Amino acid sequence: MLSFIPTICPYCGAGCGILLAAKDGNAVGTMPWSRHQISEGRLCIKGWNAHQFIGHQDRLKKPLIKDNGSFREATWDEALNLVANKLKEIKGKDGPDAIAVLSSAKCTNEENYLIQKFARAVIGTNNVDHCARLCHASTVAGLLAAFGSGAMTNSIADLGQADCIFIIGSDTTSQHPLIARRVIMAKERGAKIIIADPKGIQLCNVADVYLQQNPGSDVALLNGMMKVIIDHGLEDKEFIQERTEGFQELLQTIHDYPLDKVERITGVPAADIEKAALIYAEAKSSAILFAMGITQHSTGTDNVMSIANLAMLTGNVGRAGSGINPLRGQNNVQGACDMGALPNVFPGYQAVTDAEKRAKIAEVWGVAELPSQVGLTVVEMINAASEGKVKAMYITGENPMVSDPDIGHVKQGLENLQFLVVQDIFLTETAKLADVVLPSACWAEKEGTFTNTERRVQRIRRAIDPPGESRPDWEIVCELARVVGAGQLFPFTSPSEIFDELRKVTPQYAGMNYERLNQPDGLQWPCPDESHPGTPILHTKQFTRGKGKFHAVAYREPAEEPDSQYPYILTTGRVMSQFHTGTMTRRSPALNNEFPEAFVEVNPEDASKLGIEDGDWVEVASRRGKIEIKALVSDKVKPGVLFIPFHFAECAANVLTNPALDPIAKIPELKVCAVAIQATKQSK
Ligand code: SF4
Repeated sequence: MLSFIPTICPYCGAGCGILLAAKDGNAVGTMPWSRHQISEGRLCIKGWNAHQFIGHQDRLKKPLIKDNGSFREATWDEALNLVANKLKEIKGKDGPDAIAVLSSAKCTNEENYLIQKFARAVIGTNNVDHCARLCHASTVAGLLAAFGSGAMTNSIADLGQADCIFIIGSDTTSQHPLIARRVIMAKERGAKIIIADPKGIQLCNVADVYLQQNPGSDVALLNGMMKVIIDHGLEDKEFIQERTEGFQELLQTIHDYPLDKVERITGVPAADIEKAALIYAEAKSSAILFAMGITQHSTGTDNVMSIANLAMLTGNVGRAGSGINPLRGQNNVQGACDMGALPNVFPGYQAVTDAEKRAKIAEVWGVAELPSQVGLTVVEMINAASEGKVKAMYITGENPMVSDPDIGHVKQGLENLQFLVVQDIFLTETAKLADVVLPSACWAEKEGTFTNTERRVQRIRRAIDPPGESRPDWEIVCELARVVGAGQLFPFTSPSEIFDELRKVTPQYAGMNYERLNQPDGLQWPCPDESHPGTPILHTKQFTRGKGKFHAVAYREPAEEPDSQYPYILTTGRVMSQFHTGTMTRRSPALNNEFPEAFVEVNPEDASKLGIEDGDWVEVASRRGKIEIKALVSDKVKPGVLFIPFHFAECAANVLTNPALDPIAKIPELKVCAVAIQATKQSK
């Protein structure tokens, strides 16, 4: 019998409602959920095909153990005993910090909560992180410093009230198609659209002004816009006076950014910068959308603080149609952060260094103490593995062999480990390097909650059984804890029981429970008690930190600039029908057929200089490695800039990218590195 189960799309952070069609134990299709407030009866190509990878023949169905370089199938008892014994042995010999854990933005809130609890309460380390480190760590750091909360300030539907939408560093149509739909709807009712992006994106077609800045020049661009606003007297004096601090320091820095200087740094004509600044400042309500084009820089935190400066300067925070809206990439990256799958904070962003918070959480968890030292971030874990300081890693639902910068170095680090366990739904490029692989259930095969980019906590529902012996991640963690001898800390028999514990230690989720979350719209945090309706807009009366803080941010160059050996700038991104490391979309025929292979986008002027034609094979090399890839000659990038989507393992952009870190957020500079390009052979 065909049934339709209401659940949430497993791809991007928009969090669209899906009706998953199931028949005879198989997922056979999807339908948009018409009552759902994000999707409003629509889905993008990924949502329409979200069922396709679920029953793929490559799904892992039994635990695997590597013997003499080859995998063999094992029982759960054998695999979990091996994992437990190895973790105990390494912890006993080298201490808990010799172990590192990667949680997953694909897993539910309940699972992320358990994974970080396992790292802290069972292993005894804060070495727990996840892919937010590679996408929005700088958002969390920058907005926390400016506002006291690192999350999206407004709601997706709220774009319907914006008079101006400024999109910077977000290819919204490719990554968050149903948010791009809201932008187009806003344009149709008369809102002005400003786009700033080093690569021409589809939304440029509806832009009133397009600023094609040089990769890594965002702070200069934003400072230039702020100088225009101040020179025209368009700052919101009342808002600045009543709700902010640090304005005088900002003013001093801004005066160093006259438009001729900004034009030189950014490559954007001064007149366009002025036009954009005036549109943004003169609109009644201006909203900013941004994503990884802003965050994945060694200046990522500076970029985000600059965006916060611009919004506060014009009073565009705390009102409908305004705000700062970081678009989170993965379905549950917001939730994984909320759940404390980060090395410096417990659930609810409570610092691990705060003795009072530590004691409170230890009491709820029933342990004597918790580690107080901030743990390692994603890139630091790999560096420590490479140096022999981290000896074991437990990776759940992440694929650093495609997603992380400088893949050659990642491989060397993972191969240097004494023990690697990977828990996933497919044998990913990373899982292939593991000593033990634990097969897990996917989104359609378990209960739980995801938190979307606008802080909306929504239930997902089990539509079918997991294949073979694979199990939901939460069950695997509980079972592993039992085998390790810590079963009493993980007595859970259902995700709702886990949720009831996590809300006790996550103040933003305190008023939520499964019954309240049963409604199609879920609840937006903060939701401090059970009578609270949730919070669509943050910072309405005052900022979470009290006053909003301006930061005087000066432009710094990217960590790697072009030179005679590597004369081009490479920037990376996405295409609409693929997702992240391709683990799911490349096993979904309808999606993979749309974009089956990688390409490097080259400006026609550069292509002609280099003797490259559309479809030719070229070699792209950086200081870290080289790949062979097909050329796509296109004027969407300007001369001197190349673009490669990062989804494709066989010619992975991240072989080339620079692991240089933002000093505060420790996010790597995935968006700028210096490369060389040359023709290799002609296409057939
Ligand atoms: Fe899924 Fe995002 Fe597409 Fe919505 S916009 S259907 S959440 S991929």
